[in-house]
Amino acid sequence: MKVSIAKIKSKAAMAVDFTFTETIHAADYGYDDFVVAGLASVSGKIVNLGLGVDNSGQYQADIHYQTEIELICSRCVKPFTIPVEGALCAQFVDGAPDESDGEADIFSIEKDHADIAAVVLSEIFFTLPMQPLCREDCKGLCPKCGVDLNVNSCSCERVAIDPRWEKLKSLLPTED
Ligand SMILES: [Zn+2]
Ligand SMILES: [Zn+2]
Repeated sequence: MKVSIAKIKSKAAMAVDFTFTETIHAADYGYDDFVVAGLASVSGKIVNLGLGVDNSGQYQADIHYQTEIELICSRCVKPFTIPVEGALCAQFVDGAPDESDGEADIFSIEKDHADIAAVVLSEIFFTLPMQPLCREDCKGLCPKCGVDLNVNSCSCERVAIDPRWEKLKSLLPTED
């Protein structure tokens, strides 16, 4: 998902349009919290902002994306798919961005190409739910026998407890 900026290099206010329908491999970019499922439709334009020495080096990308991502349910540990869509602006600079200026969302243009997938993935990552749920009322797994309570029932005695507190609970003296 790379866009060549060769045509607009050093040309202030010039833009290039792009449209992609491609797969994006999130893992290739270091994301392991989600998978982009199926094709991603991504379109937009990159404008040369006309800043810096001889109008080069700074660009803005307007991006619209639409795809589906696969997440793992935090209760029943099953993968599930949700649609994601969004529009955003991103800054690109030629070469490596200067990390010292405190602006986090600057992407680099390498060999005259802006990688739009990197921006889309970063945006998707930013909007991920903290605790993904396959459905609002997912019953999760039985903490004792591990049965998927959406599908089966079990006869384990059950105390409603957030699994994150389970460890903490084990440190406390037993109640019964
Ligand atoms: Zn679930
Ligand atoms: Zn059980």
